[in-house]
Amino acid sequence: MGARGILLYSGGLDSLLAGRLLMEQGVEMIGIMFILPFRAPDFRPEEDRPARIARDNGIPLRFFRCGREYMEMVKNPPHGYGKRSNPCIDCKIYFLRKAGELMASEGASFVATGEVVGQRPMSQMKHMLRHIEIESGLKDRLLRPLSAQLLLPTGVEREGLVDRERLPGISGRGRSAQMELARTMGIAEYASPAGGCLFTDPQIARRVRDLLDHVPDFDMVDMYLLSVGRHFRAGEGLKFIVGRNETENAELEKYASVADLMLLPDFKGPVVFARGVVGDGDVRLLAAVAARYGRPAEGNDRIALLRRGSPADAVITGAPVDDEVLRQMMI
Ligand code: SF4
Repeated sequence: MGARGILLYSGGLDSLLAGRLLMEQGVEMIGIMFILPFRAPDFRPEEDRPARIARDNGIPLRFFRCGREYMEMVKNPPHGYGKRSNPCIDCKIYFLRKAGELMASEGASFVATGEVVGQRPMSQMKHMLRHIEIESGLKDRLLRPLSAQLLLPTGVEREGLVDRERLPGISGRGRSAQMELARTMGIAEYASPAGGCLFTDPQIARRVRDLLDHVPDFDMVDMYLLSVGRHFRAGEGLKFIVGRNETENAELEKYASVADLMLLPDFKGPVVFARGVVGDGDVRLLAAVAARYGRPAEGNDRIALLRRGSPADAVITGAPVDDEVLRQMMI
């Protein structure tokens, strides 16, 4: 029986190529795909396009949801953050440690990634690749097939589990070598390369930073909702989210039981989801926010309230909040 390896599968072309290159050598590959906390708790990765592409290429997948343990790393990454709120180096180490655990439980011999030397700043520099390999506990068990010829032979290659001579030596930011490889391997469908996850998005990064600064015990729902609606901070202890459309309103409503206050206008208007300490003055402010983004009318200006999912006394909205006030609160 041939060797078995674990593939860190991102859904992009590089990891797909890494897997296929090894499979062409008769290595059995099992993919591990990480679901970041920006995904909805009810997201079904097995139905998503990257999973279908993996299946079409003969790569069975295991899904790993990044939960509390991952968030602890995000709160305090030993290697710090990248340009935004992205803890890339520690995130990679985390992924590789988990892949190493899967390697042990699946009886595999190594972990492969689609990393390319010099493709990303910092985390894909040669010395950093080596550092990440050691920190993740995968010394000599970590293979980067796309850049194999440029890196020192790993134990996997020395033991003859993988034929190094049949692997390429791709480097840099260009995509042409990968596209050519995809063409020769008959890979027509793949996801376009992502420039990074939502931690690298300027707006989301600001919201992550706000959570880190104000809500030390934030949870997975807080993380997921960072990409839903408009976000505002009304004070040290109070943050609120305003739905921008029907879909977002429905999404916010799903998490009513964890909202310290939820506003549900009777009129056409946004759901407002608040987390923190909500005093009477805050309720008036939030109602004025609902009025600003909604269309209350005389006789149709009531807002239902839920506290942690339980109905509370409704309020009547007053004048809409001033845009300048909103601007100053926006995260
Ligand atoms: S871009 Fe996002 S998923 Fe990728 S290593 Fe950085 S933090 Fe992790």
